[in-house]
Amino acid sequence: MSKSELEELAQQISVCEKCILHKSRVKAVPGVGAVSAAIVFIGEAPGFHENQQGLPFVGAAGQYLDELLEKIGLRREDVFITNVVKCRPPGNRDPQSEEIEACRPYLDRQIELIEPKMVITLGRFSMARYFPNAKISQIHGQPRKMEGVIYYPMYHPAAALHQPSLRRAVEDDVFKIPELLAQMDQMAESKRPDEAEQLSLF
Ligand code: SF4
Repeated sequence: MSKSELEELAQQISVCEKCILHKSRVKAVPGVGAVSAAIVFIGEAPGFHENQQGLPFVGAAGQYLDELLEKIGLRREDVFITNVVKCRPPGNRDPQSEEIEACRPYLDRQIELIEPKMVITLGRFSMARYFPNAKISQIHGQPRKMEGVIYYPMYHPAAALHQPSLRRAVEDDVFKIPELLAQMDQMAESKRPDEAEQLSLF
């Protein structure tokens, strides 16, 4: 955990020209939140409002994410929220694989610095970082523990806004988060070997 290193990284991101997305951005969106957050949320890419403000998840999807956090007693300041690419793809198109790769070291370093207990992927682009070739409809809400961190895939909040039928799934997945964190704490206390451990919630 290091606020100054995270801020230094954000500064580098704000002037980064490693991929074509820098050409059309208004503001880069490095991410915001607690430097020692237990949970890091990783979305897809900044949208229109995020690009204007330099902050992640500030549109309707962001408001919905805030509501979801509130349901489990968390505020945005308690977690860290970022994206797989830090600059807005023009017209909100999908980020391209070369853009995700160019931006990957920033996200890798953010996670290294924050050392979260839980990494929650929102949508398929961040899911693919940890669950390559998986289908989100099949694995959302199923945690996997690797090297002491829970990786937890969820639908992107924007998907639930566009497809109300997904809301139930998103909310059910959110309600499992506190129990997963509690299990991590119990395991840390009992010092059991963590490789290949099954979380009893599933
Ligand atoms: S998306 Fe990432 S790699 Fe591309 S210009 Fe922005 S900060 Fe740099």
